[in-house]
Amino acid sequence: MKVYDNYEISPCKRMLDSDVYPAKEYIEVCEEHEAEFWTLYGHIDGEGVQAIGDFCTREAAEQVYSRITGQPFTGSYQADARLRVMHAGPVLLAALEDLLGERPSVQGGVCQHCGRDYIGDFLEGDCPSDDCPSFKARAALALARAA
Ligand SMILES: [Zn+2]
Repeated sequence: MKVYDNYEISPCKRMLDSDVYPAKEYIEVCEEHEAEFWTLYGHIDGEGVQAIGDFCTREAAEQVYSRITGQPFTGSYQADARLRVMHAGPVLLAALEDLLGERPSVQGGVCQHCGRDYIGDFLEGDCPSDDCPSFKARAALALARAA
């Protein structure tokens, strides 16, 4: 199953095709001032867009977009970078765990990631400096695992 790789919010209105019998209603993207409702679409690579939902206001559609993507709506087709990170999340976590390894960052009194010398304070443990790459990596992992 392909995931959505971007989103679009468009003003829409109902149209009536009276060239066919019986006349058939269809939905058309329109100008904002003509909108009867707003549709949130998900884009699928190679397949076009799929309507996710119709909303009475643009704000309601934007709120759902924000709940899905975790970022404010700034325009259609602006979420691809965020979505790539979201979809790569499990792989990134596994890679970060591999990089940190099973041993603590401070070994023999020296941090293996930032090089700080803790000899005299402690010889083995997690580096307590918040600008150390291992500290940031552990904080990111904790954020991803938080319930
Ligand atoms: Zn360090």
